[in-house]
Amino acid sequence: MRIIHWFRRDLRVTDNTALLAAARDAEGEVLPVFVLDDALLRGRDVAPARVQFLLESLAALDASLRALGSRLVVLRGAPGDVLVRLARVAQADALYFNRDYTPRARARDRQVQRALEAAGVRVRSFKDLVIFEEDELLTANGQPYTVFTPFKKAWLHRLSVDPPQPQGKPARLAPVPPLNIAEIAIPTAEALGFTISQTLPQGGEPEAWRLLQHFKESGAMRAYAVQRDFPAIEGTSRLSPHLRFGTISPRQCYAEAVATLSYAFPAPRSFSPASSDAKKEGADAWISELIWREFYIYILFHFPHADRANFNRAFDAMTWGSGNPELDATRFRAWREGQTGYPIVDAAMRQLNQTGWMHNRTRMIVASFLVKDLWLDWRLGESHFMQKLVDGDPAANNGGWQWAASTGTDAQPYFRIFNPTLQSERFDPEGAFIRRWVPELARVPNEYIHAPQRMPPSLQEAVGCVIGKDYPAPIVDHSAQKEEILRRFERCKARAN
Ligand SMILES: Cc1cc2nc3c(=O)[nH]c(=O)nc-3n(C[C@H](O)[C@H](O)[C@H](O)COP(=O)(O)OP(=O)(O)OC[C@H]3O[C@@H](n4cnc5c(N)ncnc54)[C@H](O)[C@@H]3O)c2cc1C
Repeated sequence: MRIIHWFRRDLRVTDNTALLAAARDAEGEVLPVFVLDDALLRGRDVAPARVQFLLESLAALDASLRALGSRLVVLRGAPGDVLVRLARVAQADALYFNRDYTPRARARDRQVQRALEAAGVRVRSFKDLVIFEEDELLTANGQPYTVFTPFKKAWLHRLSVDPPQPQGKPARLAPVPPLNIAEIAIPTAEALGFTISQTLPQGGEPEAWRLLQHFKESGAMRAYAVQRDFPAIEGTSRLSPHLRFGTISPRQCYAEAVATLSYAFPAPRSFSPASSDAKKEGADAWISELIWREFYIYILFHFPHADRANFNRAFDAMTWGSGNPELDATRFRAWREGQTGYPIVDAAMRQLNQTGWMHNRTRMIVASFLVKDLWLDWRLGESHFMQKLVDGDPAANNGGWQWAASTGTDAQPYFRIFNPTLQSERFDPEGAFIRRWVPELARVPNEYIHAPQRMPPSLQEAVGCVIGKDYPAPIVDHSAQKEEILRRFERCKARAN
C-alpha cells in the first residue's frame, strides 16, 4: 500500500492529521508531494510576500521529511493532472490531504478527487486546518451561526466535550522511490518572476514553533489582553503567516495557551476578567482570536457569496466613491503609499509595504479609513491587502474587511465610525509606532504627533516637518467625510427596508 500525502496549507510534519493517517495506513510508505499550481502564482491576489514565505516553508518541510527518511517531491502544473500522473508512476493506491474550506479550494479539490477516482485512486480528506469544521457547530435550528459570540460559546462547549489533542510526527517514512516524472527543485521567488521588496518574517515549522514558545516564555501571552491593542508593543504572537500556511496547527496553539492557564478551560461561568489576574486573561483572550480565525473560515464555507460580495446583501445598493474617478484614484494611491496626512494610517500602511504584516488594531483603523473616510469600496482594500500581506488569507481578510465596512456577519454597526486621530491618541499615546514608520514625524512633539497639521508654522520649521512639503496635510476632513458616509448608509438601509 502506498499513499500520496498532498501538502497544501499544512506545511509541517508534526500534528499533521492526514500525514499521520497516511503513515499509519501505509506503514510509512508515504509519498509527500507539493504541487506548485500556476493558478496560485498568477491570480489577481497573488502576493510576492506569500510566495517567498511558502518557498521557505517548503525548504524547511523538505528538511524535516529528510530527517524522517523521506523527502518532498515538488511538481509543477494543474493539481488534477500532475497528481494522476504521480499516482500512476508511483503505483499509489490512495491520495490523502487536509481539507481547505474556501470556495476556490473546494472547487479545485472536487476536481482533483474526480480525476483521481477516475484513475482508480482512493481519495481521503481530513479535518486539520481548524478545530471544528463545516456542520460541527450549528444553531439549535440546524443553521450556521452568523454572530461571533454564540459561535464562540458553541465552540467552547464542544471543546469541553471533545478537546483536541495535538499529535506527534510519524516515527519514520519510507524513502521516495525513483519516479519517472518531471520533479522540480524548490525554486526561488525571483526564478518564478517575483521581486521581493519587503523584509519578511521567516517561514517554516521550526520558526513557527520558536515564535510560539517565545510568545509564551517572554510573558506576551499572559499580557496579551492588556498589550494586544498597542501597535508599538510586540504584544501579539506574529503567528498569522504560520497559521495561514500550516507551519503550526491550531491545536498546537490552543494546547500551549491552555497550558498557561491556572484554571480549567473553558473558563467557568463565574469567570470575570476584571477579577482575574492578567495571566488568566491573556491566554483566554488569545484563544478568542484563534476562534475568530475559525469563525471566518466557517463563514466563508457556509456563505461562499461573501467571497466577492457583501455578506449582508442589503448593502449591495451602497454608492462608493466621490463621483470623481480621478480623485478616487489619487486618494487610493495616497492610502496605499502611506501619504494620507493621518499619521497612524500612514505608519500602518508603510509597515505593511515594508514588512508584509500589519497589527490588528491598525488593520481596523486603515480599513475603516478607506471605507468610511475615503468612501472607497472595501473590495479595493481587501484585494490590496491580499497583494501585500504575508498572512493574506481569503477568510480572515474578507471577514476583517467586511467587519470594518459594516457589510459583514458580525460587523461593526455603520454608525460607529473610527476616528483615526482618537484611535491614534488611544492606542499609540506616545507616538512611538508613528515615529518608527514615518520618519518625517520623528521630531514632532507628542502633543502634535497625532495631528501634525495643527503645529504652528514656526514649530513645523523647527522640527523639520513642514506640512504640505515634508509631510502631507490630511487628504480629507474626517468629520465632513463621516457625515456623508452616514447619509449614504442610511439611504441604503432605507431602500432595503
Ligand atoms: C481588515 C482586516 C484584514 C485582516 N486580514 C487578515 C488576513 O489576511 N490574514 C490573517 O491571518 N488575519 C487577518 N486579519 C486578522 C488579524 O489582524 C491578524 O490575524 C493578526 O493581526 C495577526 O497577527 P498575530 O499573528 O500577531 O495575531 P495574534 O493576536 O497573536 O492572534 C493569534 C492568531 O489568531 C488569528 N486571528 C487574530 N485576530 C484575528 C481576526 N480578527 N480574525 C481572524 N483571525 C484572527 C490569527 O491566525 C493570529 O495569528 C485581518 C484583520 C482586519 C481588521
